Amino acid sequence: MAVEELVGVKEYGHYINGQWVPSESGHWFETKSPTTGEPLAKFPKGTKNDVLRAIDAAEAAFPAWKKTPPPRRGEILLRAAQIMRDRKQALGELVSSEMGKVIAEGKGDVQEAIDFLEYIAGEGRRMLGETTPSELPNKFCMTVRQPIGVVGCITPWNFPMAIPIWKIGAALITGNTIVFKPASLTPLCVATLAEIFEEAGLPAGVLNVVTGGGGTVGMEIVTNPRVKAISFTGGVPAGKEIYAAAAKELKSVELELGGKNPQIVLDDANLELALDGVLFGAFGTAGQRCTATSRLIIQEGVYDEFLDMLVKRVEALRIGDPLDPKVDVGPVVDQASGESIMSYIEIGKQEARLVTGGERLTGGEYERGFFIKPTIFETEHGTRISTEEIFGPVLSVIKVKDFDEAVRIANDVEYGLSSSIYTRDVNLAFRAVEELETGITYINAPTIGAEVHLPFGGTKHTGNGGREAGTVAIDEFTEIKTVFVDYSNRLQKAQIVDEK
Ligand code: NDP
Repeated sequence: MAVEELVGVKEYGHYINGQWVPSESGHWFETKSPTTGEPLAKFPKGTKNDVLRAIDAAEAAFPAWKKTPPPRRGEILLRAAQIMRDRKQALGELVSSEMGKVIAEGKGDVQEAIDFLEYIAGEGRRMLGETTPSELPNKFCMTVRQPIGVVGCITPWNFPMAIPIWKIGAALITGNTIVFKPASLTPLCVATLAEIFEEAGLPAGVLNVVTGGGGTVGMEIVTNPRVKAISFTGGVPAGKEIYAAAAKELKSVELELGGKNPQIVLDDANLELALDGVLFGAFGTAGQRCTATSRLIIQEGVYDEFLDMLVKRVEALRIGDPLDPKVDVGPVVDQASGESIMSYIEIGKQEARLVTGGERLTGGEYERGFFIKPTIFETEHGTRISTEEIFGPVLSVIKVKDFDEAVRIANDVEYGLSSSIYTRDVNLAFRAVEELETGITYINAPTIGAEVHLPFGGTKHTGNGGREAGTVAIDEFTEIKTVFVDYSNRLQKAQIVDEK
């Protein structure tokens, strides 16, 4: 299927109970190409009542979906994965068209979604609980996993297929039904996923998508007591608001938030390897990854040499239309993001030394999108640009004396998502694993590169302790039930067996 068949499309509705339905609001918003500004599709601005309709549908679909044997649920996920595999090129182009990442990364976004569906479908035949001995005779103890019910998923725009699928795949295999709110900048990717699941045979009402603003649609999902758990990926401010609001209903909430991810390069590092790593980590997806490398911490012995090498390569990066396979860096997602990044660049010019970049590209092919030159600052640790999440193609470079200083600085931020170290010293590599306060640490690899069968998430303000993906992915979407089966035919009293 060509991308033209997926984009340029019509008006979508909300996807509720297997139907595309209009919003009661009668208001619409457009999703646009960050590269050309052209509208790709129209979506309804949802209301509280639209969310209530979606919850009704999800509640009605829950009993039958819960009863569906998990391996059968897995078959639907596998069919969805196969459909995505068959259409990978077109879906990758859709991701690049709607979000602006370069086509290789657009296809990578789709591949990550396929990988996760294939991986998590297997949980349908595991969904492991525990069996343990009892402290009493003739008694059997075990745990089983049960779905939570109607769950709410809210996602950002930067991985418009992979992140939604991490949530949808794990929620569905475990037997939950979903009310989903996509980012308002990338609803077309999620609408396309809903169509794929329908084609794969997902029953009506199991997955419902309501589009619209975070404060309206998102908050209704978060606060409505009939939505039993919330899975959110996005920024810290929204994450805090959601956590506080959901607490009033004592809901289970999973938060995957921002990052300020360091790559450390020690004197003994393979510099060519470290260079490839930081280029991909800092400027891939125009720096708009939660795991993007936004701090480069270099030991003093190789500092000048490595920075020179880096600047040459950064200045050679090709910026432009993300659908052109020769382009390395596309536009940032929209005007507001572009302005926010430029304001950080202005701050950087005051508090640090601009090494390269630092400007918006205009004219010609750059006229209709927001393109920012890959930017490097040399800075002391502690400046705003070296501690706050910028979410754009901006890298802060910091010089350190030794390993201990590198780790101290790496840890001295409010986030804790990903970190990386380049060294040939196995002792220091293992000390880094132990001492870096992040949920993910890479040795001799960049800060990006999640694999779906391993847990993903961070420490500190990057989240609230949970993880997505990997074997733990299903924890977020299951209740553990502890079961005791007493076959002694008499009342047995745990803990008080010796009492008369
Ligand atoms: P936002 O937090 O602005 O938005 C994320 C989603 O939440 C969107 O769907 C948004 O809706 C919605 N939303 C916003 N405010 C509320 C609210 N008060 N109540 C309910 N929903 C709300 O993040 P961005 O989309 O700008 O994404 C960038 C952020 O996401 C970065 O901080 C990045 O680090 C983080 N991120 C974290 C990842 C992780 O796994 N740790 C992975 C990827 C990104 P709307 O679009 O309508 O505003």
